[in-house]
Amino acid sequence: MAVVYHDEDANLEAIRGLKVGILGYGNQGSAQARNLRDSGLDVIVGNIDDAYRETALADGFEVVPIAAAAARADALFLLTPDEVMPEVYERDVAPHLAPGKLLCFAHGYNVGFALIVPPEFVDVVMIAPRMIGAGVRDSYVSGEGFPSFVGVHHDATGHAKARMLGLARALGSTRAGCLEVSFKDEATLDLFSEQAFGPAFGRIMMTAIDTLVEAGYPPEAVLMELYLSGELAYSFLKMREMGALRQHELHSHTSQYGTMSRSVRYFDLDPLLKQKMQESLEEIRSGAFAKEWSTDREAKVEFIKQAREIQRGLPMTRWEDETRRVFRIGDAATHKKQ
Ligand code: NDP
Repeated sequence: MAVVYHDEDANLEAIRGLKVGILGYGNQGSAQARNLRDSGLDVIVGNIDDAYRETALADGFEVVPIAAAAARADALFLLTPDEVMPEVYERDVAPHLAPGKLLCFAHGYNVGFALIVPPEFVDVVMIAPRMIGAGVRDSYVSGEGFPSFVGVHHDATGHAKARMLGLARALGSTRAGCLEVSFKDEATLDLFSEQAFGPAFGRIMMTAIDTLVEAGYPPEAVLMELYLSGELAYSFLKMREMGALRQHELHSHTSQYGTMSRSVRYFDLDPLLKQKMQESLEEIRSGAFAKEWSTDREAKVEFIKQAREIQRGLPMTRWEDETRRVFRIGDAATHKKQ
């Protein structure tokens, strides 16, 4: 059974007097910095000279270069993008580490796959929000809090866990619950979700669209039916609140009978899906993906650029734009017809 920590397991005394350095004031950094400050901690921001720096200044923080924040703070939150973090760590953070300091990661990736190897004399902990930055801030303000995966990679002071939980509480995360897991397991679950669950789900959605459009149904009606109405998003929310299977009870009897009686037809897909998913899992666990993503970065950036261009040119993207426009969904309501 997984261990989950709540407010009553976390003591703010463990972090009393710690100066926190937020290294990177982006999605997570801007939210975490404000939450920690509102919980009474002394926060300094380390950022390069960019628009985020201006935002941090406007939010009332003292902003210094990353290396200066790393030198001055006791608890260092590494919140730059994961792919640049090893370089930032080596150049700006590692030279300023000293006994008693603590490194806090928001993702287990770099430490879990040994792309960053901190020295033995610092505490190394993870507070990995299961939430985007805006949600980290909003749920702190609302009092609801946000769930995280947490873990201690290295306990140099003998107080790493207490300090991690104190920081998680100050962030607003123990309010919702912090599940203990290793850095590598957190990173593996995250990557699996992105590289196996997401793409498999995407293929099923594309196949459904192709089947219906080829059968002559208007693309706008197909996309509306499958996901653009928001009904699917609502069902996902109910999956969270009630359970994936139990939320079926909210649907009509026709829907329940049809879904349950026809599910078995798709069982044939299981062996192939499982084989592909096991391949992805192995690639992640062995470190092969981390190695691939760390090498020849320019080619990877070019790949993302080209894939985005291909996606923009797909009929589905055009159909989505048109459907969102005619149904006045979100910002598309104001877009002109292409
Ligand atoms: P962002 O992409 O928002 O960037 C964070 C900051 O790093 C920005 O200020 C950015 O400035 C700066 N930065 C980018 N490149 C460099 C560089 N070469 N040197 C110095 N600073 C740089 O990051 P996120 O907040 O998305 O991610 C931070 C951490 O949080 C990651 O470990 C991520 O896995 C984790 N996380 C993120 C979640 C999310 O929802 N985004 C959810 C849970 C965890 P600029 O862009 O101007 O270069």
